[in-house]
Amino acid sequence: MARAVHDHDSGEGLVPVDEARERVLAAIDPLPPLALPLTDAFGCVVVQDQVARFDLPEFPSSGMDGFAVRAADVADAGPDAPAELKVVGRAMIGHRPDATVGAGEAVRIATGAPIPAGADAVVPIENAEEAGDLVRLFEAAPEGRHVRPRGEDVRVGDVLVHAGKRLGAPELGLLANAGVPHPLVRPRPRVVVLSTGDELIPPTDDPDFGQVRDANAYTIFGALREAGAMPVLAGIVRDEPESLKETVLNYEPQADAFVSSGGVSVGERDVVKAAFFRRGDIDFYRVAMQPGMPQGFGQIEGKPFFGLPGNPVSVFVSFEVFVRPAILKMMGRTTLGRPEVTARLTEEVRGPQGKTQFARVEVARGPDGWVATPTGGRGSNLISTIARANGLAVIPAGIASAPAGGEVKVMLFRSSED
Ligand code: AMP
Ligand code: MG
Repeated sequence: MARAVHDHDSGEGLVPVDEARERVLAAIDPLPPLALPLTDAFGCVVVQDQVARFDLPEFPSSGMDGFAVRAADVADAGPDAPAELKVVGRAMIGHRPDATVGAGEAVRIATGAPIPAGADAVVPIENAEEAGDLVRLFEAAPEGRHVRPRGEDVRVGDVLVHAGKRLGAPELGLLANAGVPHPLVRPRPRVVVLSTGDELIPPTDDPDFGQVRDANAYTIFGALREAGAMPVLAGIVRDEPESLKETVLNYEPQADAFVSSGGVSVGERDVVKAAFFRRGDIDFYRVAMQPGMPQGFGQIEGKPFFGLPGNPVSVFVSFEVFVRPAILKMMGRTTLGRPEVTARLTEEVRGPQGKTQFARVEVARGPDGWVATPTGGRGSNLISTIARANGLAVIPAGIASAPAGGEVKVMLFRSSED
């Protein structure tokens, strides 16, 4: 992001949010498609029309328990004038019928069993009376009655699932039924997650004074999972450029992308910058947003690397703004943004004039539409404010104060029931 940078509250010299996101997305390609088993393909986007190679159902079957007959043989049957036919065999589910139906003949058939050759209708068992190897049928059945025809659902050549569609539960069942066990889809990206910082310890440890339990790896893990990616936690990396480089390169063979947190500001201990800036792999820039101003983005061995800031709220917001859309693009998705609603603020939200502010809010539907209540202070270290929120109110650059009662756009990052 080669732009002159001045750290002004005015936002002068900072990269506008939309521009930063567009530059990131321009550098992201969808992952090459893979033929995956259906259970792995669930939730993934298919890359080509999935065309039926078979009719569905593949054979005509009975919709009732009864007798498969020729319609012509029972055309005149009625309650007082049964048609009397010879029972020549049985048709059971999962088997080829053991007889064909000729003139004057019937085959006993179960629901779902294949219709025997020669038959074109089924008379239900309720209207039949068996006597030895004969059956009396008290009902006429026109051709096709109680027969589920072959190809009624899908014809050979029909498109089962269109290219670009995401595989949900019904599509999975349809493809299984149609004999497409390995559809070609965009796979889920494997994303290596790194937390940088000399002060960090795992959440299972007791901190010495000044130490901080690693929050970001878990926030990023959850956000990646929610987006559909497969996170790989690489753990905590100390503020030593060599050990960061080593960790990243060790994980590179199993990564489709990287997300780190911390170490992207201007301090001398800013490890991500120290490790990768000079190599020219990653650009560091300041985005006109609050929280989340410092960002790093580039490629390591051709794989996207997101260097997010360290503060937990900045991490979440930066993920929503930059990483999530990129992950979705890698997965072949075309709608990359969150659903948005327009909500009325219950309180004033102040922000830096020159930056887009993403304010943590809890949105609820009121009698007169959506209402957004800020969940707490603006500080980007206040991690509980994001846990209580379900949306990010977007206060555009140029507006220093959004008044109580005023309307704001809110990105919803979870449904209000969750
Ligand atoms: P940095 O940009 O590395 O200076 O980090 C900014 C702030 O975020 C510091 O107060 C860090 O302690 C904090 N921080 C960085 N990484 C994490 C993390 N993984 N979990 C919780 N806090 C963090
Ligand atoms: Mg740090």
